[in-house]
Amino acid sequence: MTARVLVVDDILANVKLLEARLTAEYFEVMSAMSGLEALTICEQAQPDIVLLDVMMPGMDGFEVCRRLRANPTTAHIPVIMVTALDQVADRVKGLEAGADDFLTKPVSDIALVTRVKSLTRLKMLTDELRMRSATGRELGFENEVDIDQIVGTRKGRILIVDDRRSTYERLQSMLATAHEVLVETDPQEALIKAAEGNFELIMISLGMAGYDPLRLCSQLRSLDRTRMMPILLVVDPEDQARLMRALDIGVNDYLVRPVDRQEMFARVRTQIRRKRFTDHLRDNVQQTIEMAVTDALTGLHNRRYMMSHLSTLVDQSHDRSKPLSLLILDIDFFKSINDTHGHDAGDEVLREFADRIRANVRGIDLCCRYGGEEFVIVMPDTDMALAFVVAERLRQRVAGEPFAISGGRSSLDVTISIGIGSLESRDDNPDTLLKRADLALYRAKKSGRNRVVADAA
Ligand code: GH3
Ligand code: MG
Ligand code: MG
Repeated sequence: MTARVLVVDDILANVKLLEARLTAEYFEVMSAMSGLEALTICEQAQPDIVLLDVMMPGMDGFEVCRRLRANPTTAHIPVIMVTALDQVADRVKGLEAGADDFLTKPVSDIALVTRVKSLTRLKMLTDELRMRSATGRELGFENEVDIDQIVGTRKGRILIVDDRRSTYERLQSMLATAHEVLVETDPQEALIKAAEGNFELIMISLGMAGYDPLRLCSQLRSLDRTRMMPILLVVDPEDQARLMRALDIGVNDYLVRPVDRQEMFARVRTQIRRKRFTDHLRDNVQQTIEMAVTDALTGLHNRRYMMSHLSTLVDQSHDRSKPLSLLILDIDFFKSINDTHGHDAGDEVLREFADRIRANVRGIDLCCRYGGEEFVIVMPDTDMALAFVVAERLRQRVAGEPFAISGGRSSLDVTISIGIGSLESRDDNPDTLLKRADLALYRAKKSGRNRVVADAA
């Protein structure tokens, strides 16, 4: 992963040190030696993250952070405050100024790289969401992406895995003020809960008494259902070697004991936000795919999907010398249903009609709403004689039982007309097939409606 990091410190040696470490990890590094310079660079160069020294002459880190947050062009850039070890109050002040996380001087390599990675990953997701939001605005969508709404104000669901009561009770009581927290002392049970429990973060103690927690981390990373689940490790200061291995396995971040409340809340927040953004993006892709091929009113495929799929089906039938037929179904006098009972009743009829279609065709038949009150069913492996049987059955299923409208308080007789087109020669393509069926439908309408016509000639 490459990201652009802005290092802000008034002491050149500190800048050089962080720069060297980050460059070694293949980050692109920019630097600023005063608050004002930092603000200018952020506005113009849009770094992916800012490492911000607190103590600087002139404008201090808190003020820089506040100004970054107040400016819409820089408000989304993550900020890590670099604080002195003994200035615990600085952390609270940093959070109040809008910082996302802290590093304490002297900055350790692991801490530096972990925090920068964790926050730049989060930023990549927010960037993606912001981009989609902008696209949505351009296209005039009403349901513009609202990042704050995705993150929400609801409590996070956190699973703590630890078998030592003395350590988990403290974490639990601190976290429970803002989150839903569950403790699991048995690692195998934790794995099951993680896969099924709808958690947004797992906090694992590296100091469990009777078990190697790295095994659990690696199992969580290999299971499909937990692969993307954020893992926050709680480690003892002397456990550096195992921490390194845990980070290699894919643990997202860690806290060192004794756990600082502010730090914990900041890291928990980052991980839960990341989870919510990822989930949102994934659901959104799924939804977009479904929306693109589905008719919203009836849930059947839409015309666009049918047209692309029909070509494939026609080609296949030609290749395998198999028959294929297609029905166009049109509701009779639908305009007068709308006119007499209202548009909503019309919609109810369309939905019910779609249900009856679904219930009376095979799974491999392709049903779609072709437009308005016209529907198309493509039936592979079906010659005209068989298509006629299916069409006639559908016609009877519609005419034979009234349609419920007004939410079931009233009902209505409905009839349909159906035209059939079948593949006749190798010259046939989707257009000739649809044209043939349409002509047959026209004849069905002309000869009195509520009927099936197969032979257009
Ligand atoms: P015919 O028997 O010749 O097919 O007559 P018809 O009234 O069914 O045909 P026409 O094409 O004249 O009218 C179709 C009507 O379908 C007109 C349009 O307002 C209505 N319609 C199209 N889409 C929808 C929809 O999504 N919901 C509702 N309620 N009505 C729709
Ligand atoms: Mg009609
Ligand atoms: Mg019509």
